[in-house]
Amino acid sequence: MKIDIVSIFPAYFEVLGLSLLGKARNRGLLEVGVHDLRDVTTDKHRTVDGTPAGGGAGMVMKPEPWGVMLDQLLAASPCVGGNAATANAGASVAESTGDAECAVGSAESAATGPLLIFPSPAGEVFNQQMARELATEKHLIFGCGRYEGIDQRVFDEYEQRARVKLISIGDYVLNGGEVATIAMIEAIARLLPGMVGNPESLVEESHEDGLLEYPSYTQPAVWRDRAVPEVLLSGNHRKIAEWRHEQRIARTKRVRPELLTDQTENQQAF
Ligand code: SAM
Repeated sequence: MKIDIVSIFPAYFEVLGLSLLGKARNRGLLEVGVHDLRDVTTDKHRTVDGTPAGGGAGMVMKPEPWGVMLDQLLAASPCVGGNAATANAGASVAESTGDAECAVGSAESAATGPLLIFPSPAGEVFNQQMARELATEKHLIFGCGRYEGIDQRVFDEYEQRARVKLISIGDYVLNGGEVATIAMIEAIARLLPGMVGNPESLVEESHEDGLLEYPSYTQPAVWRDRAVPEVLLSGNHRKIAEWRHEQRIARTKRVRPELLTDQTENQQAF
């Protein structure tokens, strides 16, 4: 999978070189490009924001740098399985449409080309199901907003030429899209084949089948007078599976009752 990220704070993404994500990048499972939006500005102050049309507080991100940057990234996208076009500075999407294998900008690419994701508190709420769907994409481009967000015309423009999604990571407001992008990338990338050592560890996790995970324990058997539940030390796999299933239902009922449906509640332990 290829991921491009556009931000005015590229240093945020240094964490993507750590831990499993860093290893995945070293092994070639994941390719990440981080792009500073200010690099495509043309004025001395590298301006990316302006006052809101119609007045009001704060600043809004100007459309021009986004246009230049996103045109370049779309032109360079490996998109529908063809060869990546060259990311010439200033190359426009229109110029790249001549490449039959990489039909960015065409009607075809609107269905199959790169997916542009703009983190936004006004977007669809991110969840595990969405992470699973996004993990099947070849090329994701994240555009990180700052200030009061990005000029609406950027979304309108690229919706005509590619697939665009506004995604929220929850009902609260962050200062910028960087942390939201990192959270989404981590959730998506850990689902890529070969990413997690034991793929079974993904199956039993919270949100995989609508229930939260059971509580986990390790050694020692007793810590500060708190014992690991006996059943987990019994060696009886059937009983352990039943206990874990009951724990999942009880925890989901207690913490996230809205997740419980007839289907999730009546799932079998094994
Ligand atoms: N004025 C915007 C609104 O009310 O919808 C909020 C702008 S916020 C201060 C700046 C940027 O942070 C947004 O453009 C978005 O990229 C990011 N952001 C803030 N909260 C977010 C959330 N819950 N999920 C995803 N991105 C978020």
